[in-house]
Amino acid sequence: MVIKLFWKDPYMKECYAKVTAIEGNKVWLDQTIFFAFSGGQASDKGAINNINVLEAVKQSEDEIYYVLEKEPNFAVGDNVKVDIEWDYRYKIMKLHSAAHIVYYFFIEKAGEQKVIGSNISIDKARLDFAYNESVGPLLEEIQEKTNKTIDEGIDIKMFYDEKDPTRRLWECGKWLMPCGGTHVKNTKEIGQVKLKRKNIGSGKERIEVTLV
Ligand SMILES: [Zn+2]
Repeated sequence: MVIKLFWKDPYMKECYAKVTAIEGNKVWLDQTIFFAFSGGQASDKGAINNINVLEAVKQSEDEIYYVLEKEPNFAVGDNVKVDIEWDYRYKIMKLHSAAHIVYYFFIEKAGEQKVIGSNISIDKARLDFAYNESVGPLLEEIQEKTNKTIDEGIDIKMFYDEKDPTRRLWECGKWLMPCGGTHVKNTKEIGQVKLKRKNIGSGKERIEVTLV
């Protein structure tokens, strides 16, 4: 089981970890700051003992493995340094937090709608809804409200669900939702966002969120 330090402190840029297993170029660690793609959030970029990580894979709820660019220069039981590209991760944290806020203002306008997809990458976050109308006419207001909320500097908290200790919750003001991603501590860190509509097929609407 890997200890997820990115939950304990999403602002850690490096850590040391013990290698628990190696298979070819794949490496398992006892703890990590290096996020692996899940819940739509992109994997981090970075290195283990200065060897580039090509892919971070969430193997199960408790396990992550890393595919290195070349054979590891270390052995099981060794202590290794884990680095992540902070600028990259921090942008993703901002976009992920922003996407949640946009979601709430969208359902405030459009009513509860089914989310059929979501993705947080370095240049944008996207939210896909099963929605029969165009989200276009709603976007200006949603964008304005989102940016106002960001400006208000509301604290964002992440913690384990008391009823289900395997589940992580995200809280911002009056909003609460399950989320296992990484987030900024305060909405102010996000800066400002811009929203764009994309039609992705009949009855499907996409909202794209970018940082300004
Ligand atoms: Zn989330």
